[in-house]
Parts: sequence; structure tokens; C-alpha cells
Amino acid sequence: MSHLLKDKTALVLGLANRWSLAYAIARAFRREGANLILTYQGERQKDTVEELAKELGASRVLSCDVTQEADLHHLNEILRAEGDQLHAVVHSIAFANKEDLARPFYETSREGFLLAQEVSCYSLVAVARAVAPVMTNGGSIMTLSYLGSQRVMTNYNVMGVAKAALEASVRYLASELGPNNIRVNAISAGPVKTASARGIKDFSKILDVVTANAPLRRPTDPEEVADTAVFLASHLGRGITGNVVYVDSGYQIMGL
Ligand code: NAP
Repeated sequence: MSHLLKDKTALVLGLANRWSLAYAIARAFRREGANLILTYQGERQKDTVEELAKELGASRVLSCDVTQEADLHHLNEILRAEGDQLHAVVHSIAFANKEDLARPFYETSREGFLLAQEVSCYSLVAVARAVAPVMTNGGSIMTLSYLGSQRVMTNYNVMGVAKAALEASVRYLASELGPNNIRVNAISAGPVKTASARGIKDFSKILDVVTANAPLRRPTDPEEVADTAVFLASHLGRGITGNVVYVDSGYQIMGL
């Protein structure tokens, strides 16, 4: 059986537990032969992620809170010092205050708006800056987005605006890093029950509507998202950059 990511090293940020999209992606990357480096946000998550890293066969686990410039600087230094050459980077990170995913969007506080932008959008720019110097042979950076960036989805609010900025950032990064043969894309996943998704009020209702109306009439399987990430990280995706690839049972085409 061919291994699409043989001899490639991938950094995966945003793995919190077995339900995380990053977990499915890391698992698929290992299946395809990648050497894995994982990160966790802080001490609270250290043991859990180290346990999952063992299970996944990751070679290294590093601490990185993407809101801390010092952490990103440290990440860059460690990767350089250990002579790592990265081929793929998965940014699977987002955060917004729970109350901003439940009340009307126009009631979003300045602080809540900026927090969602910082963690869910700006962090991609900061991560790209930290990893590009060790992607010396080119590679693939990818992030996770959602249709709420393009359409009004009930209660997605401040996160929809952050995802719109994230998708625009993907295009600017793709344009600037392309000459270094670094591709930058977003995977726009359909709704999946994860810890982050549970923070959105009435998330189950969104899931039901999408499942009932998507062309494929089924919810998004995290493994479908993961296989698309494998494709983007591999030689097979070499012509694709600056794109938003939908993995959502086709829901995004519906005019409901
Ligand atoms: P998840 O398991 O909760 O993953 C979110 C991750 O972001 C967690 O590992 C979290 O770490 C991390 N994070 C938050 N703030 C951070 C920070 N300051 N520094 C470093 N890491 C930080 O949920 P998920 O659904 O898999 O989300 C992954 C990505 O997929 C997000 O961008 C999300 O918007 C996107 N997405 C999800 C869906 C869905 O329906 N689930 C659909 C489309 C797109 P902690 O747990 O330590 O806070």
C-alpha cells in the first residue's frame, strides 16, 4: 500500500481530544507515513495530549499557546535547533466567548470580537510566520473553516466574521508564500460534534438541518475531513493553493 506522506514531517496544532478534527487529521497523517509533531495550548492539556501523542505515534509534543508571541518564537527556535524540515502544518484552532455564540451578533463586545479574531484568525498568520522558515523545501499549510464565513448561520456570529477574515488571510498568505512553494488552503468542514462546536447555542439543530438537506444526506465524518487534509499535504495536492475546499456533504451549494 502506498504511503502518501512517507518521509514528510507534519506539525498539527489544535488537538484537544479524540473528537477534535485535528485528532482525525493526525491519525490519517500517521496512516500515510508522516512523522508527527503535536502541540497543546497549556499545562491543563499537557497530559491528555501527551497520552494521545503516544497512541498516535507522534515523535514530539510541544507547548504552544498561539496568542503568545513568545510561544511561537520558541516553537520556531525548537524546530530550527532540531533541524526539523516541515512539509505540512495543520492549524485547527478557534475560540470565541460562549456568550458571543448565543446572543445577537450586534451585541458582541469589542473584547469578544477581538478575542475571536486573535485566536481564530490572526493565529494562522503568526503560525505561518513561525513555520515558513523551516519549510525549506516547500510544503502545505492548512486551516479549518466553516460556511458561516460566507452565510449567516444561526448563533455562529462572531466566529463567522473571524472565519471570513481567516479565509481572506489564506489567500494573502498563499500569494506571498507561493514563490517558496508553500501552499496555503482552508478546509471548510460541515458541522461535527466537537468540544468547540458544543459551545455554539443550538448546535444540534444546525447539525440536523445540514444532515437533512445536504446533497449526500449525511453529516460530515471527521475522517472525510482528514483524508482531504492528507490530499492537500501530499504531492497530489501540489497545484492547489489559496483555496477553500468544502468537505460538508455538499451542503454549501444549497440555496436553503
Ligand atoms: P476542538 O477539538 O475544540 O479544537 C479546537 C482547538 O483549538 C483545541 O485544541 C483548543 O485547545 C485549541 N485552541 C484554542 N485556543 C488556543 C490557543 N490560544 N492556543 C492554542 N490552541 C488553542 O474543536 P474542533 O471542532 O476540532 O475545531 C478545530 C477547528 O475546526 C476550528 O478552527 C473550528 O472552527 C474548525 N471547524 C470545526 C467544525 C465543527 O463543526 N466542529 C466545522 C468547521 C470548522 P484547548 O482545548 O486547550 O482550548
